[in-house]
Order: sequence, then structure tokens, then C-alpha cells
Amino acid sequence: MTRRDAYGRPAWASSYATRLTRLVLQRDGAVCHYCGAPATTADHLVARSLGGSDEPANLVACCTHCNYSKGAGTRPATVRRPAPPSREW
Ligand SMILES: [Zn+2]
Repeated sequence: MTRRDAYGRPAWASSYATRLTRLVLQRDGAVCHYCGAPATTADHLVARSLGGSDEPANLVACCTHCNYSKGAGTRPATVRRPAPPSREW
């Protein structure tokens, strides 16, 4: 039986997401991509529901306020800044 996390996802998926979030926060200096507040989560630039990938290039550091105030793919394009330049990991 597959171990599940609190959200019903397989444990491996949860730890992968956690690892990705940590990488993205590290890369972006733990500063929210949208408002500059301290970031604790990672946000998809292109929502997964719109075909966005889970690659670090599609993820930016994001504070909980910005993350939760946004529905999937509903953030107005005017608020969006260009993706950060890709860096070596
Ligand atoms: Zn923010």
C-alpha cells in the first residue's frame, strides 16, 4: 500500500514537492515573486491546469498571501513579472 500524506497524495509526491519548493525558495532568496514579502511557498507561473510543468523554470517563490489569493491561472497578466533568468542549480 502506498503511504499517503495529509492531503491524500502519495508520500513520494509530497516529498518531491517539498524539495522543489525548497529549491525555488533558495534560488529566489525566499522573496515573493509578486509582492516582495518573505516567501514560504512556490507558485506555478503557468498553472498546472493550463499545462504548466513542475519544472523549477515554471516555479517562483511566493508568499502565502499571494499564493492563496490566486486561483489556478487567474492571476492577471499585468501583475506577472517575467520569469527569473534560469540559473545553474
Ligand atoms: Zn506575495
